[in-house]
Amino acid sequence: MKPEIIEKLVRNSVKEITPYRSARDEFEDFEAQMIFLDANENPFNSGANRYPDPLQRKLKRALANVKQVKSEQILLGNGSDEVLDLIFRTFCEPGEEEALILPPTYGMYRVLAKLNNINVKEVPLDENFEIDIDLVFKAINSKIKIIFICSPNNPSGNIIPIDKIKQLLDGFNGVVVVDEAYIDFSEEKSALSILNQYPQLLVCQTFSKAYGLAGIRLGMCFANPSIINYFNKIKPPYNVNSLTQRKALEKLEDSGEINYQVNKLIAERKKLNQELKQFDFITKIYPSDANFLLVVVDDAIKRYNQFLKAGIVLRDRSSLKGCENTLRITIGTPEENVNFIKVCKSIDL
Ligand SMILES: *Cc1c(COP(=O)(O)O)cnc(C)c1O
Repeated sequence: MKPEIIEKLVRNSVKEITPYRSARDEFEDFEAQMIFLDANENPFNSGANRYPDPLQRKLKRALANVKQVKSEQILLGNGSDEVLDLIFRTFCEPGEEEALILPPTYGMYRVLAKLNNINVKEVPLDENFEIDIDLVFKAINSKIKIIFICSPNNPSGNIIPIDKIKQLLDGFNGVVVVDEAYIDFSEEKSALSILNQYPQLLVCQTFSKAYGLAGIRLGMCFANPSIINYFNKIKPPYNVNSLTQRKALEKLEDSGEINYQVNKLIAERKKLNQELKQFDFITKIYPSDANFLLVVVDDAIKRYNQFLKAGIVLRDRSSLKGCENTLRITIGTPEENVNFIKVCKSIDL
């Protein structure tokens, strides 16, 4: 697919918008040693008295280096929620155009679509939580502008093979979003490896999981620079605050710690997976490429409450179609996991 396709996919109203120009757009080099009397800020230093860089240039340079992309291919947002919301608003005409999701999957796609008055078409994953490509192609019609793929998928934990994603990209005329919130916990390749081949591919990641910074609310989207330009045009000017930008930069400079923790969590996941097999109340453990395990139990409500009583909070995913009697278990610290196994032993009667 040619890059020109992007112009056809973006909503007209988005193309026509003249963006708000902030003081920091007029004079960009705000790290320069100047007297800044342009933005009505309080001049006394508090560590956060200045408006943040609207385009987060310093952070993006560091991130570009880590992810092996160009700065112009990055959008940052106030959590993935804002990033996903911008994607809907850029490509889907409310009340007319639609998005396709593959349940059971992350709940925010549906919520954000509905909020934007965008109809959602569902093509369920199969019993192993894999994509049935033929079903997807059968469901596609001219109204569908976006397909959301969550890989590794939440709540099931499995990764969607890159070949399947390519098949979708090759056979669909709209935008394909691959949500890789958990990709750092997988040994498989990120869809970033094919980003430059597909102008209609968007890859979302987050600082909330492997990077250990859920509290700073920082989501990323990697895409063709012309798509990123449209996002920059319509996003709230100061959507990523200066404390968040600073904290994220610090984290990127300490890749040793990230790698250490990720490797530890992967090892703990494998260990936990092995140990959980001994319990009769757990009837199935799904393979996981993420920092959690989805398990089938004999009675999800009963087991959930038993864990709660013992001081452990799990996520009951039973209400999702295809996830009957399932609990989702986040991988904790080694100590927390030992405690979790102890409780498993005590309730496995
Ligand atoms: C946790 C998670 C995110 C991250 O959301 P943030 O808003 O960045 O914290 C995104 N997608 C999926 C599938 C997730 O599970």
